Amino acid sequence: MKPPPLKDDCFAMPPGVDWTPVDDALAMLQKGLHCVTKAEAIDLMDAGGRVLAADVVAVRSNPPYANSAVDGYGFAFDCLDSNDVVELALVPGRSAAGGPFEGVVPAGKALRILTGARVPTGVDTVVLEEDCSVLGDAIAFRKGLKQGANTRNAGEDVLASDVVLTAGHVLRSQDIALLAAVGVGGVSVRRRLRVAVLSTGDEVVSVGQLATQSQIYDANRPMLLQTIREWGYEPVDLGHVADDPELVKAALERGAIQADAILTSGGASAGDEDHVSAVLGSRGAVQTWRIAMKPGRPLALALWDGVPVFGLPGNPVAALVCTLVFARPACAVLAGAAWQNPAGFDVPAAFSKNKKAGRREYLRARVRGGKAEVFKSEGSGRISGLSWAEGLVELSNEAQEISDGDLVRFYPYGSFGI
Ligand code: AMP
Ligand code: MG
Repeated sequence: MKPPPLKDDCFAMPPGVDWTPVDDALAMLQKGLHCVTKAEAIDLMDAGGRVLAADVVAVRSNPPYANSAVDGYGFAFDCLDSNDVVELALVPGRSAAGGPFEGVVPAGKALRILTGARVPTGVDTVVLEEDCSVLGDAIAFRKGLKQGANTRNAGEDVLASDVVLTAGHVLRSQDIALLAAVGVGGVSVRRRLRVAVLSTGDEVVSVGQLATQSQIYDANRPMLLQTIREWGYEPVDLGHVADDPELVKAALERGAIQADAILTSGGASAGDEDHVSAVLGSRGAVQTWRIAMKPGRPLALALWDGVPVFGLPGNPVAALVCTLVFARPACAVLAGAAWQNPAGFDVPAAFSKNKKAGRREYLRARVRGGKAEVFKSEGSGRISGLSWAEGLVELSNEAQEISDGDLVRFYPYGSFGI
């Protein structure tokens, strides 16, 4: 017998095999997918996290009327003379937020005005109350103000009929505030994307059930269902099936009826018991990618009755990383949003590592004292490292000798929407 040289690296690239770089796989996904969700009209109050189906136009300007930015006294700038100290007689009354002054302020006089109050006719400038001396019904303050000081012009932020947000935008709290301010009470959004999750494996049992000595609890399904929830989609739980092609097939069939996309975990490789990739392959249109990524391979991608299926690896670390890197931007497109690239930043490494060439690597990491620490083990089954981490360090394809203090790219989990 003549066995091959020992490599002891399950991620080593066998010679002659085509490994798909992560960016190529992402580009293929981006090209192949489109929005699958219909539009529906909903109240702004219920629209958080939803994807806009159409551009939104401001019903009113923001601010809708010129108003004061401070508590003080309003007057017409043009009436000021060039004296060092300005003295103005006060007009009786005041302008308050929600209680405007309905009269006209004559040139050379001032009116008490409060923050947010409409600037009355005859006023274009406001002096801060802290800058004034008040004596009887007159005020005095030093010169130096500019015309329009301490006022906000009507429409200086947004003009009525401006497009404020465009189709595909995912509504966050701050967007809801903007839409409310410009008088938009309802929006057209995409129906929530339904994403189904299936676990596979003879050794896998649902938590809460009795596990034998040779069984493990299903960690992937609760993890992925929660991820989908956090992305603002509707999770569909397909449960767990054993490594049996008929059961896998039946589950995919259910999934294709109930959901717009399906995530499966386990059985995606080409091993004896890897029935997910085999079943997906039986319907054709399966693309099994040997992605040049660690952790990550294998990822099977297929259409089942027209529904995209992500056949994720069974290892929870690989399953989550593949989900964040591939399923997240893909689901965004299916949901009607734009392709999503995570936002990362460079931080000095608090570790050293000799990285091999030819694959992208993701390390479980967190930032402490301004430096990226990585989890003590790169083992793909070490779920505790996922929980320990606060994000991922991404190392690009080429071989690298990383030393303490070298800059590495860190993506907080938040940049993947979890
Ligand atoms: P597989 O991709 O099916 O070869 O599984 C790879 C590894 O992930 C094996 O050690 C499985 O036991 C484990 N695994 C598969 N599915 C799950 C799951 N749902 N939860 C936790 N571990 C899993
Ligand atoms: Mg398996």
